[in-house]
Amino acid sequence: MLQQTKVFKFGGASLRDADAIRNVGTILQKFAGQKIVIVVSAMGKTTNALEEVANSYWQGDPDTAKKKLAEIHESATVIINELFAQVPESLTASLNDLFVSVEWALDEAPNEEYDFDYDQIVSLGELVSSHIVAAYLNRIGLATNWVDARDIIQTDNTYREGWVKWPETLARAQQQLPGLLDEKDFILTQGFIGNTSENYTTTLGREGSDYSAAIFSYCLDAESMSIWKDVPGVLTADPRLFENVSKIDRLSYKEAIEMTYYGAKVIHPKTIKPLQNKSIPLHVRSFIDPDAPGTLVTDDAGDAYPPMVAVEKEQALINISTRDFSFVAEHHIKELFEHITTTRLQVNMMQNTAISFNVVVNDIDDRVERFCTLVNEHFKTSVDRDLELITVRHYTTEVVESMRRGKVNMLEGRLPLTLQMVVKDVPVMRRKE
Ligand code: ADP
Ligand code: ASP
Ligand code: MG
Repeated sequence: MLQQTKVFKFGGASLRDADAIRNVGTILQKFAGQKIVIVVSAMGKTTNALEEVANSYWQGDPDTAKKKLAEIHESATVIINELFAQVPESLTASLNDLFVSVEWALDEAPNEEYDFDYDQIVSLGELVSSHIVAAYLNRIGLATNWVDARDIIQTDNTYREGWVKWPETLARAQQQLPGLLDEKDFILTQGFIGNTSENYTTTLGREGSDYSAAIFSYCLDAESMSIWKDVPGVLTADPRLFENVSKIDRLSYKEAIEMTYYGAKVIHPKTIKPLQNKSIPLHVRSFIDPDAPGTLVTDDAGDAYPPMVAVEKEQALINISTRDFSFVAEHHIKELFEHITTTRLQVNMMQNTAISFNVVVNDIDDRVERFCTLVNEHFKTSVDRDLELITVRHYTTEVVESMRRGKVNMLEGRLPLTLQMVVKDVPVMRRKE
């Protein structure tokens, strides 16, 4: 039985309203009779709205936080009233319990750690959507067991970026899931969330539901995993940013890791490793055109690719130099890496010269400031913000030239298959009349 299990992941876009959820139901009808673990994200942009709740609460404004929470509850209620001719009482009760428990938490003083409070609040989005979708599937005759992902996915207590404890997670999945799949064909669970050994909720990082699906796939030795998206598959670049993109039919795990690591947002970068470790094929498919083949990510996809572009925004370039013109020596680099680790900087590119060291990082929260404060003890730093990191795999001169247009290049790095540039937008100058 285990060999036949498929894992499906439906993201926010595929669950944004009642029609979208009905469409998910129609897709799943085609798989009736098969064993499927379905992982869902929060509906639409709920996670962003919950982040606002967490921020208001943390800024000492529980009234605004409660108001925003009530709006999220209201949107969920609108969706369920549209979805069900008669809303199951148990669904209304589950949603009320979930919202009330967060509302009560908002009455307490914030914890010492923002990331902890964030996870306890923001995880609500997936819990809500999973109850709604499970109830809907049962209503349309697809027998589905709802599973709390926190009973399966165990993490350390790095809130907002929980690290999976694989042996514990594997043991729980293997103990609990096969029996449930024997009982009913479908399991429906949440992406993005996990649990610590002290029984607190963690999240796995924004957009982490793809990763959750890969964790379930790994633990169940799934036959395949599919992520259902609003695009036909993996494209040569983000269609929201570029014209004339084309679909890639087959992609190797290695290529998929390279592209997603540098910002191809269609797959969460952590998704690939668990799948690669067990040679589980990944299908990236369209929920708008569910019969189309999409993109297949496997081991043996060949290595001839067109140029592919990934853009990562909100980048900061930190230039670090020694105060006295001495060389950047090994012991300096060791110190800098220690600061990178403690401030959880996510580094996308680095380069050094004799007397300076440049790092390009995701500009998240106040991490850059905290890093610079530590580094300034022994070095000088300067920071450029609002930059973009453009990564071109399998680059050609033509594509690179077109990427450079209208940009100032702050830093560039080339490897045989990859060209990266950190750029700043410059307005195009025009001569005055
Ligand atoms: P989900 O609904 O699962 O959260 P996402 O919005 O995270 O889905 O991912 C799908 C989006 O990823 C697409 O709408 C597209 O704009 C973006 N995207 C970025 N890079 C690519 C790429 N190379 N190929 C396809 N889509 C991409
Ligand atoms: N809901 C979470 C987010 O928006 C996780 C996900 O969608 O993958 O980041
Ligand atoms: Mg997403």
